[in-house]
Order: sequence, then C-alpha cells, then structure tokens
Amino acid sequence: MQRNTDMEIITVKDKSFKPYISEEDLLASVKKVASKINIDYKGSVPLFLGVLNGSFMFFSDLLKSIDLECTVSFVKLASYEGTNTTGQVNELIGLSESIEGRDIIIVEDIVDTGNTLVKLYDILSAKNPKSIKIATLLYKPEAYKKSHPINYVGLEIPNAFVLGYGLDYDGLGRNLSSIYVLNE
Ligand code: 5GP
Repeated sequence: MQRNTDMEIITVKDKSFKPYISEEDLLASVKKVASKINIDYKGSVPLFLGVLNGSFMFFSDLLKSIDLECTVSFVKLASYEGTNTTGQVNELIGLSESIEGRDIIIVEDIVDTGNTLVKLYDILSAKNPKSIKIATLLYKPEAYKKSHPINYVGLEIPNAFVLGYGLDYDGLGRNLSSIYVLNE
C-alpha cells in the first residue's frame, strides 16, 4: 500500500483510491448511531454481534459510545458449495454462547446487496433470540435488493467501491482510519 501525501491518493495493488469520508465525519456518524441505540435499548442488556472482518473498527468506536450494560461477540459467515443438490451452504462461525431470549444487534461494516445480512439474519432467527436489529456503518441503497429493514445506518453512500476503516481491497487497506473510494 502506497500513500501519496501530496494528493492524498493511495494505491493498493493495481487500483488507486481517493479520500471520501474523513475520520471526523465517520466518528460523528458512529456517535449518532450509538445515541439512538442507547435510547432504544434502555433497560435491556443487548448482545452486540460484530461481523468479521470488516466491522472491527466500527464495532470498536461504536461500543466506546454505548453506555448500556451489554455483551459483545464476533461472528464470521462462511459460504461453501454443498456436496449435493443443496447448493450454497452458509455456516456461522464463532458464536459459542446461546442467544435465546437475547436482544441482538448485528454490527456490519457495509450493506451492499443485503445477501450477507439476510443469510445471517435467517441463521440467527432460528436460534430464538428475543429480537434482532441491524446496525451498519455504510449502506448502499441503490445496490440493496432485499426488503429487510436496516435499523441503524451511519452513512448512506452511492454504489461505489470503498476502502478503509475496516473495509479491504483484496485483504489490504483495513487499517486506514478514514474511508477512500475507487478512483475511476
Ligand atoms: P452484500 O452481501 O450486502 O452484497 O455485501 C456485504 C459484504 O460485501 C460486506 O460485508 C463487504 O465485505 C463487501 N462489500 C460490499 N461493498 C463493499 C465496498 O464498497 N467495499 C468493500 N471493501 N467491501 C464491500
């Protein structure tokens, strides 16, 4: 990963990215999401469920502004081809505790088509939680193909490829403290 400090354009592998959302703007939107959750979940002890890898920075900043009693856990959704006619199989990795009767807040980095989210939602619903809501840092309304409501959105963005603050390009760029967009 190369930084060009004059123009603030960065190069990751074969692509270049330009600054898009500053760290300041990101943190302001994260705080807004946290304030809403603090109000909505007053009196409850929710479980914040971070979806790895992309959500780790959002998750960390969000939780610093949550003043509720709560627990945290992280999951990963693995997809692989089934061996028979079942097609794609989705497996949830990392959830060791029971979520029965719990208020769950899924914490995502970005919702694009919504496929990941709906798969996750279906797997979690089968485990009988009291409620499931979704918090995402970024949401691409133009790309979203599902009808499921996204309960807490940090920022809506157009249908472009973004990088940084947890989001990667081919495994790189997750450590950037602000968000960049593909320079086309
Ligand atoms: P969905 O299932 O909603 O189409 O996609 C969700 C996943 O695709 C995200 O968790 C993320 O890993 C990846 N993704 C979608 N849009 C972007 C993007 O603009 N940048 C990056 N780095 N990943 C994205």
